[in-house]
Amino acid sequence: MSSGKRIVIIGAGPCGLGAGWALNARGHDNYTIIERSGYAGGLSASFVDGAGFTWDVGGHVLFSHYPEFDEILAKVMGGDMLAHLRKSFVRRLNRWVPYPFQNNLSFLPPEAQLDCLLGLKRAAEVEQVKPAHFGEWIDAVFGEGIARHFMRPYNWKVWGVPHELMSAKWIGERVSVVDFDAVLKNVIMGSEDSAWGPNAEFQFPSVGGTGEIFTRLAAPLKDKIRFNTTVSSVAVDEKVVILSTGERIEYDHLINTTPIDKFLKAAECAPKEIVKRAGELVHNGVIVVGLGFEAPLSDKERCWMYFPEDNAPFYRVTNFAKYSASNVPGGDTERYSSYLCETSYSSFKSIDRELIIDETKDGLLSAGVIDEDTYSKEVTRFMIDADYGYPVPTIDRDEILRDVQTYLIDRSIYSRGRFGAWRYETGNMDHSVKMGLEVVERILDDKAEEVWKY
Ligand SMILES: Cc1cc2nc3c(=O)[nH]c(=O)nc-3n(C[C@H](O)[C@H](O)[C@H](O)COP(=O)(O)OP(=O)(O)OC[C@H]3O[C@@H](n4cnc5c(N)ncnc54)[C@H](O)[C@@H]3O)c2cc1C
Repeated sequence: MSSGKRIVIIGAGPCGLGAGWALNARGHDNYTIIERSGYAGGLSASFVDGAGFTWDVGGHVLFSHYPEFDEILAKVMGGDMLAHLRKSFVRRLNRWVPYPFQNNLSFLPPEAQLDCLLGLKRAAEVEQVKPAHFGEWIDAVFGEGIARHFMRPYNWKVWGVPHELMSAKWIGERVSVVDFDAVLKNVIMGSEDSAWGPNAEFQFPSVGGTGEIFTRLAAPLKDKIRFNTTVSSVAVDEKVVILSTGERIEYDHLINTTPIDKFLKAAECAPKEIVKRAGELVHNGVIVVGLGFEAPLSDKERCWMYFPEDNAPFYRVTNFAKYSASNVPGGDTERYSSYLCETSYSSFKSIDRELIIDETKDGLLSAGVIDEDTYSKEVTRFMIDADYGYPVPTIDRDEILRDVQTYLIDRSIYSRGRFGAWRYETGNMDHSVKMGLEVVERILDDKAEEVWKY
């Protein structure tokens, strides 16, 4: 039954769609979703380029922590999902080391194996103190060898933010830590151990890329979504959303899924200190380059690959034709292959947008992803600049969020989703959808949220 509360949702990404889905399920139709672009899915959308290749905004690996998300997925996708075994690798010293790196040191040359083992042993001997930042945590947990061969250079490439500014508290299931006995055993026995983690198996839509999930999720909500409509500010005290056209929409409750720092900067009447606090949150951007080749999908093993070295700009490459044949024209992987390559940038790490596609292509060659023959058979290049890519878990992030979110909640504004909540550790698609579902239960039933916290 509709409670009559007027609810406005900003953004038709996974979080906004999750909220809309929950409202529809409750028969509460007094709501509107405002979306600035002409499509649903936000950072989880997919695009088909002029040559017929499908691209995601970076490699999206679907893993669900929640039965509610699984139910929605089953409902909207039915059998149109492909199942994959996660096969990911780190490129180091011209070798493919199965991920997690630390469990598979035997794939490295002997000197590097020794570096890593000695580092681990020394780290275990040092009396542990609480690490002051992410860099100290890496050194304490992995030791100097693994830190130098993988963890430090790779994390610099992903985050583009000095480790000293990042907290060590967010890690949880996002980083595989170390069991020294198991590491040693794997080295001595020369065995592979890549079954770690929450996404050892994953699913991918058989057509349409990751975005297909959200296109279908949005379909039953279509009458409620106003596409190509931008929120330019919110009059917080009056509870009014103001569109770029000048139109004003009143609400009782507002769900914001756009970056919380931008949202507050544009908000009318927000106190200067709150706007300033939100402005202290740190994020990076990600340039996603898609390269398609008229060369068969030859690598049938690797799903995605990590690149800690500086012979390529990207930190990760996804073997996208392997995810689904429909990601290449005509589904013809005997003829085409495609790679999705992610390079981060930030105020600490610059990139040259004019050169990045060529640098990416050269990087694929020098890092050993493609050979000279494939290199010469490029048929398409695609680029997306996600200026908000990763919300960075800085040391003071949680305190900032507490101040900012308290201010908003007191005014019936719920900021959720990847950049609305700004918590990387719960910033994936499943988390975002679940946050959307839960915030509706909070608004309508006063039920406590589980995923979102501050
Ligand atoms: C490089 C990269 C790799 C990723 N890999 C994975 C992965 O492997 N697995 C995984 O689960 N997740 C992954 N993610 C995360 C995933 O994309 C997000 O979890 C998800 O898209 C977040 O959904 P959201 O609704 O919170 O935000 P968004 O997707 O950012 O959606 C917000 C929406 O708000 C709209 N909007 C913004 N400003 C305005 C405005 N002023 N007015 C109106 N509308 C506005 C935007 O257009 C957008 O549609 C990855 C993300 C990136 C960038």
